[in-house]
Amino acid sequence: MKNEFYKSLSFKLAILSVIIIISLLASSILFNSQIDKLKDRIDYIYFGNYVPVLKLHSIEENYDDLITCMKTHKKCNRDPFFKNIKSDWEYYNNSYKNLKERKIVNNIDSFVKDSFNYKSKISTYKNLIKKIDFLKEHEKKVAYKQRKAFLKEYTQMKDYLFYNMIILLLVSFLFISVIIYSIIKKDNQLKILTKKYKIDSITDSMTKLYNRKYFDKIFDNMPFISNSKHWRTAFVMLDIDFFKQYNDTYGHDMGDIALKKVASELKLYFDKEYEYVFRLGGEEFGVILFDTNTDILKECLKEVNKNIESLNIEHKNSKISQVLTISIGAVIYEANSYISCNQVYKIADECLYKSKQNGRNQFTIYNEGNQ
Ligand code: GH3
Ligand code: MG
Ligand code: MG
Repeated sequence: MKNEFYKSLSFKLAILSVIIIISLLASSILFNSQIDKLKDRIDYIYFGNYVPVLKLHSIEENYDDLITCMKTHKKCNRDPFFKNIKSDWEYYNNSYKNLKERKIVNNIDSFVKDSFNYKSKISTYKNLIKKIDFLKEHEKKVAYKQRKAFLKEYTQMKDYLFYNMIILLLVSFLFISVIIYSIIKKDNQLKILTKKYKIDSITDSMTKLYNRKYFDKIFDNMPFISNSKHWRTAFVMLDIDFFKQYNDTYGHDMGDIALKKVASELKLYFDKEYEYVFRLGGEEFGVILFDTNTDILKECLKEVNKNIESLNIEHKNSKISQVLTISIGAVIYEANSYISCNQVYKIADECLYKSKQNGRNQFTIYNEGNQ
């Protein structure tokens, strides 16, 4: 049972670990893919809009510088300007354009290429600056739109990640709670079963009194308990009178019922703390009473004899009464008297025998002076 419990517990813990690992993997994959998307978006804005705008800006500046050069030097060397403009324009011209943009860029491309000669006038370059400026403005507008779209996507991404994490956490939490709950439940069941098993192992199944095994344990410890607490302790043996005749007269089943009735009465009577009632075997019972004295014991045993008679269990073949009776033998163990348990048992048994000899339905208490 315990083994099964731990087996299922380790199985659940294994599942829990797998779930946690899967959750972590799923969330890291999720994060990774979202961060990749973000990087693509930033790349798109950077290479799709920002770099082209820079290139156009550089072209514009080169044309500006070229105009200044032409204005200040009669023989201005245009080649370095052409070289710069050419490389920037090539980059810009080769970058991605949609159909409409491509048409416009192709048109401007022919103007740019035509401008790479020494015959071109300042007005041509000024004109080109306007065209380049137009492209720059267009790229800026697109970049603005892209940024807006990026921000929207970014917010969506953030929400998506947030809700996914919440769901993952909730699912893990739910699963962990279920496991903890079932562990606690199993543990409680186990505790109840263990308790029940403990009770069962010391209880006589028929009479529900403590059994012989438990008697042996308590009885062996009786001197230690009495000595340590300085208690007088009584050991009482009780035996139903003419029970064989009872069985013979009323049958074994009725005998069982009578036994249970006597047992219940004894249990009911000796119900205080430090009072233990046992079924020693057959129709014989034992009682251990801690912290008592001879007067109390006498009163008790008198009452027990009377109470059993008062159960009024018919026993027409008893030689001493019309109802079921019991005989009792008892001994009081003084603290630190160093009598062995065996001796105590023997003396109680002898007292019981005396009660039987003296006519049954009575008690005999061992008295050092008299016996
Ligand atoms: P005494 O007064 O001398 O004790 O006579 P007794 O007949 O009671 O004693 P004896 O030892 O001769 O017989 C005890 C009987 O108790 C015999 C047995 O069949 C009966 N008995 C023992 N255990 C049980 C039980 O669990 N159920 C029933 N019905 N009878 C039992
Ligand atoms: Mg008997
Ligand atoms: Mg007997």
